[in-house]
Amino acid sequence: MKTLIRQRFIVGNWKMHTTASEAKQLGQGVVGGLGSADHVTVILCPPFPYLALVGDIVKGTQVALGAQNMYPEKEGAFTGEVSPTMLFDLGCTYVILGHSERRHKLGESDSFINQKVECALAAGLNAILCVGETLEQRKAKQTEAVLDSQLTQGLANVPPEFLSRLSIAYDPVWAIGTALHHENPQQAHDAHLLIRRKLGQICGESWAQRMTVQYGGSVEPDNAAAFLDQPGIDGVLIGGASLKVDSFLAIAQAAMTVVQAEMQPA
Ligand code: PEP
Repeated sequence: MKTLIRQRFIVGNWKMHTTASEAKQLGQGVVGGLGSADHVTVILCPPFPYLALVGDIVKGTQVALGAQNMYPEKEGAFTGEVSPTMLFDLGCTYVILGHSERRHKLGESDSFINQKVECALAAGLNAILCVGETLEQRKAKQTEAVLDSQLTQGLANVPPEFLSRLSIAYDPVWAIGTALHHENPQQAHDAHLLIRRKLGQICGESWAQRMTVQYGGSVEPDNAAAFLDQPGIDGVLIGGASLKVDSFLAIAQAAMTVVQAEMQPA
């Protein structure tokens, strides 16, 4: 038995998908079909327009509500943006920050992401900071340097009192949303080791050992257990497979099974 059981996160990142009625069905299907297990947190992250709708569905259940992004100010003249205070108001307790689609398609920099991390945590939200290398960076053997830099810059000046609300998602860009490049669980495990070592340098060893570090990259029901079984992989961030109730529930169940096995006396 492992001595430390870290909280497992199963995060559904719906991205810019679903209509209102699909969001409702998906939310209801997940809430209705989910078993429960200690040490597993299930988080649904619908698009902004459906946060209130899905928030009503998950209210009072074991499922948490998360947002996919936010702007790093409490309020102000920022047309089209959404503040952490607004997310809080809608019942969000989590926010995904620095997702690779925002880094690479919308040009978000590490320093902007750092502002978001600080602002989200200061507002009382739980921040999920995404990091991960591109295929070119991996081929050029830059994975460690990229993770180092994204973590160092993304977590600069985060006060120690906020660290209990911080988690990391290792989302290698090349493994997201594609059947072409499946990362193998051993590669993911190795990257998680690098991340936890870096977290030790930034946040201190004790926080690094307690912090949830999850994996994201084309996780499906048939490969979820292989990732979740790896020591140091504390959950999964799921895009495509989170849009189907059955596949999302199957992945959540895989996490629950892994945790239950860990909790058995040796
Ligand atoms: C993601 O959105 O970070 C992700 C991992 O997506 P997918 O599961 O579709 O690869």
